[in-house]
Amino acid sequence: MSSTKNERSYKAQKVIDRMGQKLTRQMVGSLTACVHCGMCTDSCHYVLANPGDPTFAPAYKADRIRRLFKRHYDWTGKVFPKWVKAGSVFTDEELQELKDIVFGKCTNCRRCTVNCPMGVDLATFNRMARGLLCYVGIMPEGVEYVAKEQWEIGNQMGVLKEDYVETIEWQEEELQSEMEDPTAKIPIDKPDSNIVYVINPREIKHDPRSILDAAKIFYAAGEDYTMPSEGWDMTNFGLFNGDDELGGAVAGRVYDKVDELRGKKLVISECGHGYRSTRCEDTSKRER
Ligand code: SF4
Ligand code: SF4
Repeated sequence: MSSTKNERSYKAQKVIDRMGQKLTRQMVGSLTACVHCGMCTDSCHYVLANPGDPTFAPAYKADRIRRLFKRHYDWTGKVFPKWVKAGSVFTDEELQELKDIVFGKCTNCRRCTVNCPMGVDLATFNRMARGLLCYVGIMPEGVEYVAKEQWEIGNQMGVLKEDYVETIEWQEEELQSEMEDPTAKIPIDKPDSNIVYVINPREIKHDPRSILDAAKIFYAAGEDYTMPSEGWDMTNFGLFNGDDELGGAVAGRVYDKVDELRGKKLVISECGHGYRSTRCEDTSKRER
């Protein structure tokens, strides 16, 4: 009885298969459009910080992902693999090398796209590549930890609800003391508020005075606001690491809580890790 040895590792095969499910028209356009003119090179801060090292050039980094697309999902790579520099991944070590590029050599800032005459958007398919690797459990250790906490506990620092509420109440006492007003409040779960204010878990865990600072602004403005007891983490590591399921779940928790409280606007504090490009959204225009 003969046995067949796979030429590719289990994870490498999963990454290639998953790529076929995640490619979008926009990504395919960017994966095929690069003419290697080099006009984007000096726009990348990694290139500026590492002069003389061509492996930081946007086109070089993009080619590490592009070669997989060409080999498995583009006819040119199947017919003329050497001409179009098509290639594949076979081992977990190669996936680790890809991880170091897509997480460690590109921030998805899109500065190169602004300078590209062909409109190549590296950030879209770099994020896709991050997601492919996360899908098989290959990602930086810190990213894995916070993503797990965000999925399982509901926020990236694993703060329990009772600790969150207790910290808000502590800051409310500070607010009353500093404002010399015993009626000053940091409302939690107040329905029909004008603003629902969500924060970065770092504020609860390491820097609660930033919550107090925001509360003082709301107090001085006489604003009608509330902080939700759940769905309050406005960071989103699913957007960061390319895990669409996590990204959707985290954003959904926030929006669902705003809907539940019938808040009119969502305001997020500093540092959103790409949660949204705007800091304030009028939620009254959303369908409920
Ligand atoms: S500017 Fe655009 S086309 Fe030119 S090398 Fe960079 S990504 Fe490719
Ligand atoms: S998206 Fe930003 S970090 Fe990534 S290659 Fe382009 S300029 Fe560099």
